[in-house]
Amino acid sequence: MLLENYTLEIFNSKCQPGVMAVHCFAHLDQDISQVLPYLNTTLGGFEYLVDPPALTLRSQGKLMTLHGRKIAINALKDEQEAQKIVEWLKNEINEAWECRDRIVPCFHGKPKPILIEILKLLPKTNCRKCGQPTCMVFAAQAMEGGYGAENCPELTDPNREKLTTYLSGFDFD
Ligand code: SF4
Repeated sequence: MLLENYTLEIFNSKCQPGVMAVHCFAHLDQDISQVLPYLNTTLGGFEYLVDPPALTLRSQGKLMTLHGRKIAINALKDEQEAQKIVEWLKNEINEAWECRDRIVPCFHGKPKPILIEILKLLPKTNCRKCGQPTCMVFAAQAMEGGYGAENCPELTDPNREKLTTYLSGFDFD
């Protein structure tokens, strides 16, 4: 077993004091750096940093970042949910570590859409009909999979098709 124990730290967002969600750090008793490239393969992280090693992934509707000695998870309902997800991660970490001889480690994240490629298909009128203040913000959201062509009512039909095709080439899970 690689990861045996951790301590949970739960806190509210200082940036969004009115928001009810909590964030969590799990401070790890063991260093899990070596398992991160294997977890990147098994869990499909979308960002991987080599030095110092850090893996960011989206799973169970949460954004989580794993460092050697710390796991950070955002936008949790409460401490119970944090505990459940950290326990799930602990099992995944230990399973990947035990099976590492049979897993091909991955040292890079998934390719992401390029912001400028999205932006050049948008009308760039900043009309706000999508609920975002500018087309640039819309493009940044679309890069992360939060928005798609269907969310911009101002798109021309050809550009709607191009944007749909472009974004369909990426895996946002
Ligand atoms: S609806 Fe389309 S054109 Fe209007 S701000 Fe949003 S992305 Fe830009």
